[in-house]
Amino acid sequence: MIKTTSYNPATGKKIATFTTHSQKQLIKMIEDARKAQPQWAATSLKERVKRVKKMQAYLVDNLKEISNVISQDNGKTELEAFASEVMPAVMATSYYCKMTKKFLKDKKVPSGNILLFNKTSVLRREPFGVMGIISPWNYPFAIPYSEVIMALLAGNAVILKTATETQAVGHALKDAIESANLPPNIFQYANISGSIAGDTFIDAKVDKLFFTGSTETGKYLMEKAAKHLTPLSLELGGNDPMIVCQDADIERAANGALWAGFQNAGQSCGGVERIYVHESIYEDFVKNLSEKIKNISITCGQEADAQMGVMTTKKQKQKVMEHVNGALKGGAKIAAESSIDACVQKSENACKAYVLTNVNHNMQVMQEETFGPVVGIMPFQNEEEAVQMANDSDLGLTASVWSTNRKKAKRIAKRIKAGAVTINDHLMSHGMAETPWGGFKESGLGRTHSVLGFDEMTQPQIIVDDRLSLTKKNVWWHPYSPEVYDGLVGGIYLLYHKNIFKKISSALKLTKVFFRVFRK
Ligand code: NAD
Repeated sequence: MIKTTSYNPATGKKIATFTTHSQKQLIKMIEDARKAQPQWAATSLKERVKRVKKMQAYLVDNLKEISNVISQDNGKTELEAFASEVMPAVMATSYYCKMTKKFLKDKKVPSGNILLFNKTSVLRREPFGVMGIISPWNYPFAIPYSEVIMALLAGNAVILKTATETQAVGHALKDAIESANLPPNIFQYANISGSIAGDTFIDAKVDKLFFTGSTETGKYLMEKAAKHLTPLSLELGGNDPMIVCQDADIERAANGALWAGFQNAGQSCGGVERIYVHESIYEDFVKNLSEKIKNISITCGQEADAQMGVMTTKKQKQKVMEHVNGALKGGAKIAAESSIDACVQKSENACKAYVLTNVNHNMQVMQEETFGPVVGIMPFQNEEEAVQMANDSDLGLTASVWSTNRKKAKRIAKRIKAGAVTINDHLMSHGMAETPWGGFKESGLGRTHSVLGFDEMTQPQIIVDDRLSLTKKNVWWHPYSPEVYDGLVGGIYLLYHKNIFKKISSALKLTKVFFRVFRK
């Protein structure tokens, strides 16, 4: 039997070994989920909420243990694991448990035209059925957790496949979800390679697939999903810009860049990668951020005062170094770099944090997602140029504007082609369950989190009813005749023709045919 072993990327120490699943087992999971789901959807919402609340209690009781597992398996600091993964998971459980009733409530749709006054419509939300969820290693707990609880609350059965690289976290997440004592096969966990999982979910016709990962894999899945028109939600890559205006608070902006560009060793889809600073404060900003980076030492994330951990995978570190070296060859300069602590000197995953200047948009580091502890900084002369540079990317996940003038910041924010734009902050809205997360352009399809993300867990169904159930037919039904045609045209003239005489004559024609609704 094939096993997956998790290692601490900072120390290389083995954490644990986990059994993998075969494709056959995954297919069986999908079949079992399909059989179990209708009963779960028919369970009262109160009961579903009660079960999910048990997960919240479990998280609160095990906060530190879970944060420690995330830190060990992924390499991020334990504080980051808590602040950006476990804390948002607790808050999200509370939010969705409170809001689900409202999100799932039937909504009356007001009549859109007096000519159809007899029709009443109700919009309801129907769970998809069986959801496949595939998640990445960078936020291995928080990303899948919210999706799983939203899917369950909405009445779906879920099969979760987490990243192979962070199976210890995947299993901690599995334990948290299983603490709810869900009915059999409503939640199932698969440890299986991504390529097998993606193809199998689609070929075995899951009712919807949620994928978070690279744009490249997202495109592959979209092509593959065409086979059965499998609905997809794609949360993909980012190459986020940060615009620092002339009137920005430099200290706050530099602190923000340090956190949003380098926390999680820069492995955040919505992390700062490109910084555009007004030329008048460019030198001050670079100096300020550089000082902060020089004070950072890459270390083992489990120490209480650890500021930055190692990267999760060697492969990702190689990619980062390719981008950095490519930029340096092209003329970029290292304005500042962090040090690497003695305790992780031997780790192949330890990657210095870099602040690059003299960069341009022909360099990979600015053009593509680097996904590591690197930012490139460029000066701009005016708002127009800043917006143009920020939008010069195929990706559009999130962005930020830094200014003490909120009105101006909002004006610039609206011009940026990204799914979320924060003012005087960056990235953190991923932790706000009430705000939608998702990208423009090649950063993805659909939204997660908030009511919009919750809506992705269900499909809309409209039920249109007739108030005049005693009538025998609609005006426009058979048998057709010239009078029926004139009467229908009359309805439109009555409402919308400018000539009052035409309106009156049309009303008569409409009235004449209206009473046919009572005739056989
Ligand atoms: P990845 O695409 O390699 O892997 C993500 C997940 O997909 C993993 O579970 C992996 O096993 C699986 N996978 C791999 N090949 C697959 C295939 N052919 N079919 C189906 N699943 C497959 O991405 P990664 O390197 O693990 O994650 C980093 C990427 O994820 C970055 O681009 C980052 O920006 C993106 N990301 C986006 C968001 C977001 O919310 N938009 C959040 C986190 C990460």
